[in-house]
Amino acid sequence: HVKDKGRAGFQFFTTEMNTRVVDRMELEVGLRRALERGEFVIHYQPKVELATRRIQGMEALLRWNHPERGLIPPDTFIPLAEETGLIIMIGEWVLRTVCEQSSKWQAAGLPPMKMAVNISARQFKQQDLVERIGAILAETGFAPGLLELELTESYLMNNVDEAVAKLHGLKGMGLGLSLDDFGTGYSSLGYLKRFPIDVVKIDKSFVDDILINPDDATIVRTIILMAHNLNMKVVAEGVETGEQLDFLAEHGCEMIQGYYFSRPLPADGFAAMVRTWGIE
Ligand code: C2E
Ligand code: MG
Ligand code: MG
Ligand code: MG
Repeated sequence: HVKDKGRAGFQFFTTEMNTRVVDRMELEVGLRRALERGEFVIHYQPKVELATRRIQGMEALLRWNHPERGLIPPDTFIPLAEETGLIIMIGEWVLRTVCEQSSKWQAAGLPPMKMAVNISARQFKQQDLVERIGAILAETGFAPGLLELELTESYLMNNVDEAVAKLHGLKGMGLGLSLDDFGTGYSSLGYLKRFPIDVVKIDKSFVDDILINPDDATIVRTIILMAHNLNMKVVAEGVETGEQLDFLAEHGCEMIQGYYFSRPLPADGFAAMVRTWGIE
């Protein structure tokens, strides 16, 4: 419709476009500085095992503590970080930081807990991904068996043979592998069984209406059955109510992540929660 507005419309359009370009440039410059200035922070959200009600592990979730705009959620800057390639450095910072944080927690008397980190498409595409992660583990002395990578179908399906080889390389180092946002991509079940995946994470969008929408309920039940038949465990993400939890427990979902138990918390808050909650 912008085209139909003639001169004034065009003017408006270019102004708006310039603003967006400026916004983008500002964001990109800001992102580059954020690493140097230490403005990134990680929040941690527990994954709770339903059978025991214990904290099985956590997901590390990145935030940008912007000096003027405050805490910025990842969805607003990860796509640009991905596009510009900055995600490689940011991703390595996240990995190193969570490994160091875990060591600090263990030194402070917290039990060893599994740590899950999100890996973006661009990171996964790196030829030397396995070596890079291996180097960070060696550098920080973090136990590979405690590190879990959250991957998405969207890029695993791009080049299945290459993905399978990489996943085996990561598994060979002892890492755990999860399939994030499951059900939102174009999953090919035929390929899925070729991936050495330990855990499937059911996307929040299916969990939301599990009690209202029979289709979503069916999808969730089917994902759980499929995962179990492929020897994978299931985490449901975005669980906010006891009713959702009951449904998931009834259908054999092993783990729950969501506001029902806890929002993602800064490191200190997470440690305090673990101490109160207790974990074995
Ligand atoms: P994700 O990996 O699917 O993470 C789950 C998202 O759901 C998180 O959003 C989490 O805060 C949110 N969530 C969990 N439980 C609930 C709930 O009960 N209700 C609601 N409304 N939300 C819930 P967040 O932290 O904003 O992260 C968004 C996405 O950003 C993540 O989705 C992930 O794709 C990406 N991301 C976060 N940290 C990183 C990172 O370090 N590296 C990369 N590459 N991506 C990251
Ligand atoms: Mg995730
Ligand atoms: Mg997810
Ligand atoms: Mg998600």
